[in-house]
Amino acid sequence: KRVIGTKTTSRADLTLSCFSTVSNLQRLAGKVAVITGAASGIGKATAAEFIKNGAKVILADIQDDLGRSVASELGPDAAYTRCDVADEAQVAAAVDLAVRLHGHLDVFHSNAGIPGRIPQDDALSVDLAGFDRVMAVNARPALAAIKHAARAMAPRRTGCVICTASGAGVVPMPVLAMYSVSKATVVRAMAEPLARHGLRVNAISPGATRTPMMLNEIPRLAKASPGLSGELRRMVVEGASDAVKVLEPEDIARAAVYLASDEARYVNGHNIVVDAGYSVHKGAEN
Ligand code: NAD
Repeated sequence: KRVIGTKTTSRADLTLSCFSTVSNLQRLAGKVAVITGAASGIGKATAAEFIKNGAKVILADIQDDLGRSVASELGPDAAYTRCDVADEAQVAAAVDLAVRLHGHLDVFHSNAGIPGRIPQDDALSVDLAGFDRVMAVNARPALAAIKHAARAMAPRRTGCVICTASGAGVVPMPVLAMYSVSKATVVRAMAEPLARHGLRVNAISPGATRTPMMLNEIPRLAKASPGLSGELRRMVVEGASDAVKVLEPEDIARAAVYLASDEARYVNGHNIVVDAGYSVHKGAEN
């Protein structure tokens, strides 16, 4: 038996109280977040993890019915707003909504994204309009998020932006060339200017993760690159060897919780790669 304060506590009580403290830990208590692309996949899982950890979340997406139904599933700490991230004004409006509803903003997770690919043998007819579109959704919104979120956060000198980049930006894949370029992260360049305002920006680069986007991409890639398509299928659908595990959206969401939390208060300008070691393994092969 040990005495804690005035109460005598048995070892069993102590163990129980440690576990309940851990399970009740709210790492984002009091924080307000906007998450783009939150109707599905990684964004949806991140919204759920943020709420579990005590945050209030604005889910921003272009799939309105799905977004509203996810928000209502997540309960009173979630709200949905339409936000096409390719339109800077809509990104600014999502920031304004968070401040209007909750008085301030702590986290902007620029997560929405779309696939884009150039088959390797098609370099002479590269689709530049397609490139512009993938950059408009995957790259430019990170800067819009940094700009507008920072305007809302700077007066309190606290807050952060998280960008979902990609393992395809870490180890570029020729067959996913447009996508790889769009996911090469901007956070390094923006970290120091944001730090001057007391703010942070970091990226998360997921490996192949079991989400609707990835499950749709696998058959689409089959013609251009049967090898990559098969590899992704093994990683995401079948669950693979000891070296490569199936990543679930929650695995990525937990990295976002860390970056959004005060535990990461000195982490700025970094890219957390969550890919079960895939990029290290591929980098070594190249
Ligand atoms: P997903 O398709 O399940 O979710 C993406 C969400 O983004 C969808 O709800 C979609 O409606 C939304 N979206 C698309 N265009 C938008 C726009 N213009 N404005 C607002 N919302 C928009 O896909 P996911 O796999 O969860 O992808 C989330 C992010 O993770 C993306 O940036 C993706 O590139 C990145 N990523 C995914 C994987 C993976 O294997 N799933 C790997 C690396 C990176």
